[in-house]
Amino acid sequence: MQGPASFLRHPLQASFSKPDCLIVFPAGFGCARAAAGKRWGVTETSPQRIGLFGGTFDPVHRGHIAIAREARRAARLERIVLLPCRTSPHKTDALPPTPGDERLRMLALATAGLAWAEVSDFELRQPSPSWSWVTVRHFQEMMPEADLFWILGADQWEAITQWARPETLRSALTFVVFPRPPHPAPHPRPGWRPIVLDTVHPASATAVRHRLAQAGPPDPDLDPAVNEFIRRHGLYRAP
Ligand code: ATP
Repeated sequence: MQGPASFLRHPLQASFSKPDCLIVFPAGFGCARAAAGKRWGVTETSPQRIGLFGGTFDPVHRGHIAIAREARRAARLERIVLLPCRTSPHKTDALPPTPGDERLRMLALATAGLAWAEVSDFELRQPSPSWSWVTVRHFQEMMPEADLFWILGADQWEAITQWARPETLRSALTFVVFPRPPHPAPHPRPGWRPIVLDTVHPASATAVRHRLAQAGPPDPDLDPAVNEFIRRHGLYRAP
């Protein structure tokens, strides 16, 4: 049986033979993937500083992209993997999110010009809810040599000790934390490794969904290609 290191050397072969172990896309996603002109999956060389960016991304907005860019620059990340969740354990009273395939495709469009960004369907293929510690374990097994970073806003940093298995997260990750007014400014936590950055972006997916339900696309906080996708697929319309 192949170990994680061979997966990295033979990513495409491994993605077909062991689909639960790699960044792959569901059948039928090839067109959007090709259209976006991106490289997918684990590449030949193994970068050492990897940013993991989990979220609902319903939809992905300019705030997400702004903090990913800044995290990459400030933490010198070679790659950032954006991971739309199946459902968030933190949003238990929210409506079910937009189907994962559509959120994934919007992420592909929003990151199409960013060579360092990859989109993973890993959490979409796991049972619900999506546990970040499962994702982190997966990447640790797949890239045992890598330094893993987790990108998040101050709203999530506030609650991080209530996430499942915080000890697994604390020991595995450096956190790249962004302010998110009106949430309290990110503060240090003994024993945790945060890099606190000062880029503030006001976008929120809740506000975007609300505006889309009122007025429809285009929305100023969305990439034009995402606006067009939403228009074509009739997403986020008021019931
Ligand atoms: P919603 O409004 O539906 O809760 P959201 O805008 O917070 O969504 P998510 O996909 O849930 O978006 O967020 C994923 C991650 O990105 C979280 O860690 C969140 O804190 C962070 N994030 C999202 N938008 C911003 C922003 N504008 N500034 C800083 N962090 C952000």
